Parts: sequence; structure tokens; C-alpha cells
Amino acid sequence: MTSTLRNFFASLWSRPDPVLGQAAVAGELLVAKIRLGLASTLLLIPLIDTLFFPYEPKEAIVGLTLTSGTFLLSVVVYLLISREFNPSWLSFASSSFDVTLVSSALALFLVLNEPHTAVNSKVVFEGYFLAIASTSLRYDKRVCITAGLLAFSEYLAIVYFAATHWDLNSPAYAPDPYGVFGWSAQISRLIILLTASVLSFSLVARSQKLLQLATKDPLTGLFTRGYVDDRFAVELSRARRYGKALTIAVIDADRFKSLNDTHGHLAGDIALRKIGALLHDTFRQSDTAGRYGGEEFVVILPETDVAAAQQKLESLRESVASSPIALGTRAEKIQMTISAGLATFPQDGENAAELFALADERMFQAKREGRNRVVAGSEAVLS
Ligand code: GH3
Ligand code: MG
Ligand code: MG
Repeated sequence: MTSTLRNFFASLWSRPDPVLGQAAVAGELLVAKIRLGLASTLLLIPLIDTLFFPYEPKEAIVGLTLTSGTFLLSVVVYLLISREFNPSWLSFASSSFDVTLVSSALALFLVLNEPHTAVNSKVVFEGYFLAIASTSLRYDKRVCITAGLLAFSEYLAIVYFAATHWDLNSPAYAPDPYGVFGWSAQISRLIILLTASVLSFSLVARSQKLLQLATKDPLTGLFTRGYVDDRFAVELSRARRYGKALTIAVIDADRFKSLNDTHGHLAGDIALRKIGALLHDTFRQSDTAGRYGGEEFVVILPETDVAAAQQKLESLRESVASSPIALGTRAEKIQMTISAGLATFPQDGENAAELFALADERMFQAKREGRNRVVAGSEAVLS
């Protein structure tokens, strides 16, 4: 029971797929542009007020300070993001910033001694929904949860502060258009905030699920070629940025055509499924194993140098060679083998195309040298 609960919470707080991380970078840039557009428009309001209605200097100064502060911060955030500044905490910080901006505007009405506007304002309060809805563009469930709970707590604190520091239903406020206070309306507002967060969380969870469905090969359960290519690009840029090694392995089943010809395509499919299962068991969660085409497979091994990768591939090669595959109900068993070629960043190539071509070439070298073997770069020394 406790483990079910633990799994449930772990699934709520799970990291997004690295490929979705790329969509999140684009989302963050879009949000930064929208924020900047909105901040520029909002800056016009106190400017116009100051020019045309100079008889409310206190409000105008406060409004101008807040909107120009927001504008400047939005410019800074936009410039940072457009220059590829993208640490892992960025989307948490930027969505918390948006939520807190709305709360600051509401808190400002408390400072101005206008508590009813703080707790009953419609336009400013709706800013929370913009902030919460935009969390879904970060494709990270954790960001949706953080921003939702932050909006909830900050708004609750503002309402609690207003209700305990002013007599909000005093007849003195009667002419005020926002002049009635009721907890039931406030609780409804808090529930709506949480509901909006649940909706954006669900949207992200759904996107993650769809990505999973769209990127799995139905026969082997391994990733598809398109996904492997995207992931290779992501991992390669990460390896470049952090100065880490990265190895790509191209794997091809040996004499597969003759297996199909002798035992039929159904037997071929059973063999492919078995190789898929062995690939799945051999590699770590952080490695990406995919089916590249017919009986060809690719594995991306981040932070893995030649020697470590060769050891991994040797262990896969041995498990394939030592696992006879049972064909259906017949007692007949077939013996499969694989050949593999490896290429390692940075010594074997700078970009994805070079590394792939070299790994593929080495796989063919393994075939020429007699199959059932792994060929890596010259630096690989297997103990
Ligand atoms: P080599 O050792 O040189 O790799 O020989 P090979 O026979 O494996 O190489 P080749 O590329 O000539 O043959 C690949 C065969 O794989 C051709 C096709 O019949 C078979 N194949 C490709 N995709 C599938 C599939 O999805 N299911 C089945 N059953 N067979 C497939
Ligand atoms: Mg082939
Ligand atoms: Mg083959």
C-alpha cells in the first residue's frame, strides 16, 4: 500500500523526457515573448495615467514603478533565454516569477489601503490563469505542481492578511464597487486556481504519454528511429557542453535473411523481439536503445567512453549468442548472433552524421571479419 502511494507520488514528480525538454526550451522562449509583450502593454497604462490624470500621483508612481520593474525583468529574462541560457531550474523560476508578479500586484492594493481590490479584483486575479496555463508549455509536471501550489498559497496569504487586518464588511466601504467580502467566494477562487493547475498538469501528462506511444516500435518495444535521432542530437549537445564522452553503437543481426528463409517471417519476428528484450535488459535507463530499421538497432550511451561501451556491447553480444530462441510451440530452437560497430565522441567525430557513419562502417567491418563480434575505435582495450 505504501509502495503504491510512493509510486503515485513519484509519477507526479517525474522528470520529463529529454526530447520533450527541447520542446520546453521553445515553450520557455514563447512565454518570454508573451511576457514581454504584456509587460510593454501594461507599461502604457500608468504612463497614460500620469500624462492625462496627474491628480492621483501616489497610484501613478506605484503603478509606474511596478510595471517598469516588470518590463525590465521581462527584457532581461527574454535576452537570457534567447541567448540559450537554459539551466534546469529556469522553468521553475520563470513560472514562479509569473505567479508572484500577480500576487505582488494584489499585495500592492493592500499597501495602498485598498483591501477590497486585493481580494475581489477580477482582472489582476485572472493573471494567475495566464501564469498557470503557460506552465503547460514547459512540458514538466513538476513545474505545473509548483506554480499551482504557489498561486494557491500566495493568494490565500493575501486574502487571510486582508481579512484579519481590515473590517472588510464595514458599511464605510459601501460605495466601493468591490465592497463586499465573503469567504465562500474566496474558497471558490482558490478551488478554481487548483483546478486550472490540475488541467495544465493533465495536459502535460497527456503529452508525455502521447510521446511515449508515438516513439515506441510496436514489435520490440524499443524506441523508433525518429526518436533515437532526436535523442542523439540532445545527448550530443549535452556531451559537448559538459565535455563528456558519448558512444553510439550500430547493431545488426547476423544472417537474418537466411533465418527468415528457413523458418519463416514469424520466426524472424520472434527473434527480433528477443533481441529487443536483451537490449532492454543490458542497457541503463539513461541509454537509448532503438530499432533503426528491419534487423538493425542503435544504442546511444551518454557519458560512456570506448572501453566501457565495448564492455557493454560485448556483454550484449554474449547474451544474444548464448540465448537460443524457442520458436512457438515446436521444440525447435534457433541460435542468433549480432555484429556491432561503435563510435565515440569526441575522438571519432564531431557531429551525429560522422559518428553514425563511422559506427555503421565498423559494424560492416565486424561482418567482414566473421560476424558475432564488436568493433570499436583503436583506443578501446578490452581487459
Ligand atoms: P548479414 O549477416 O550480412 O547482416 O546478413 P542479413 O541476412 O542479416 O542481411 P540482409 O540485410 O541481407 O537481410 C536483412 C533481412 O532482414 C531482410 C529481411 O528479410 C529481414 N527483415 C527486415 N525487417 C524484418 C522484420 O520486421 N521482420 C522479419 N521477420 N524480418 C525482417
Ligand atoms: Mg541489415
Ligand atoms: Mg543483418
